[in-house]
Amino acid sequence: MSDKLKILFVSSEVAPFAKTGGLADVAGSLPPALKEQGLDVRVVMPRYKIVEEPMLTRLDFPITISGRKETAVIKEHRDGLVSGGHRVPVYFVDNYHYFDRKGLYGYPDEAARFAFFCRAVLEMLPGLDFNPDIIHCHDWQTGPIPVLIKEKYTNDPFYQNTATVFTIHNLQYQGNFPPDCLDFLGLPKELYSPEKLEFYGDVSFLKAGLIYSDLINTVSKSYAKEITTPAYGEGMEGILRMRSDDLFGILNGIDYTQFNPSNDPLIESHYTSQDISHKTDNKYALQQAMNLPVKDVPLLGVVSRLASQKGLDLLAQILDKVLAQNTQVVLLGTGENYYENLFKEAAAKYPDKFAAYIGFNAGLAQKIYAGCDMFLMPSKFEPCGLGQLISLRYGTIPIVRSTGGLADTITNYNPETMQGNGFVFEEPEADQFWQAANRAIQVYQQPEKWAGLVKNSMNCDFSWARSALDYTDLYNSAIKKQQQKI
Ligand code: ADP
Repeated sequence: MSDKLKILFVSSEVAPFAKTGGLADVAGSLPPALKEQGLDVRVVMPRYKIVEEPMLTRLDFPITISGRKETAVIKEHRDGLVSGGHRVPVYFVDNYHYFDRKGLYGYPDEAARFAFFCRAVLEMLPGLDFNPDIIHCHDWQTGPIPVLIKEKYTNDPFYQNTATVFTIHNLQYQGNFPPDCLDFLGLPKELYSPEKLEFYGDVSFLKAGLIYSDLINTVSKSYAKEITTPAYGEGMEGILRMRSDDLFGILNGIDYTQFNPSNDPLIESHYTSQDISHKTDNKYALQQAMNLPVKDVPLLGVVSRLASQKGLDLLAQILDKVLAQNTQVVLLGTGENYYENLFKEAAAKYPDKFAAYIGFNAGLAQKIYAGCDMFLMPSKFEPCGLGQLISLRYGTIPIVRSTGGLADTITNYNPETMQGNGFVFEEPEADQFWQAANRAIQVYQQPEKWAGLVKNSMNCDFSWARSALDYTDLYNSAIKKQQQKI
């Protein structure tokens, strides 16, 4: 038998198969990095309608949800996740009723959908003959797994040595549902109590993960601290303080083979930190694609979910001033109607200076990361943030609010010492954001300094290697913790 640590990643989205945000990037790129460290990692996610990958059926079995018999069909991707010469098997939980729908989320039966997913994951493992040392759960959609293991599979020999790790990618999304959702999980009503799953009159899938997992982590050290305070804790701060000995922060990375300006097939022209001269070709191609005048003015970019978390109200407030500096701004995003309309209106007002693409478009995102000079992330909170990491990799200078992972990755540029990799502001206030943007625009006017800053940013290393080692340590600690309880 192999003594490799066996890890099952459970995530509601995994890039490149289905993605709405950073969770998918992490679930698609951390497993190959762990594999590189010698771990036996596998991944499971729902088989949504948009996932049209070649796959083989491995097994099927019934699950009864509130008296209704549903079939879980377990499929395996023909190739799996392949990166850096490593292949990670990927399983899909398929069910026509719950997952054969256009989108990933936002349906009225969300509790039943993800209860089904979690139960199917635990039922499939014996059939796949894969007994993980760690089940690594991500966000509320997978919160029921730790509670099912401890309350439902207590005496099941298969799960006697299985530890759970729960990663918070965003505490704002909690999966809170009326108490009768316990039926979907096949769990007793007694679990609806303040010490267990009750949360302000609902059952919280997120709280289930926070209370029952052996160890918890989030995706930056700063966010791990912030979420123990009322300002960032989204009501969960008490629980997180109670579990503070078991709460860790491990910074996300990005896949440096996928995000690579020297060979990215999605961008116009390739470049490296040694020779950035072709970066401007990408700028001109982007201006053309977005119907903006093609010229050498500072080009600022945004790629973001359009949600209030992202602080884009601040952008709307300073847009007139920024554009008055002979700049252009391009925005790619989708989300809340309010922001979609706000930026459509701005595009109509400034046809020669501001362009917005409302929608999800991975190819355009790469063109923005490569083609812009600066990247804007004025977030109210940011667990880690991947946009600024991808921007750094492409020599596009982040202008960020100092919060969560943005605070842990971006250091303010000092024109005297020429140290730093971005422009940072502290408080979520329009004037502070404007000052930071204006500092960036001023440095841009000094080409030598700017080129040095671009180099600084491209020489940063936010690949997964270091964080993958931290995860390996976290898994070993979780196993020890689980064993102590027996
Ligand atoms: P979050 O997970 O909160 O959405 P992150 O910065 O951690 O924020 O990750 C966002 C990821 O989603 C990045 O890879 C970003 O490029 C991508 N993304 C966000 N919106 C879009 C969009 N409209 N089109 C393409 N990619 C997008």
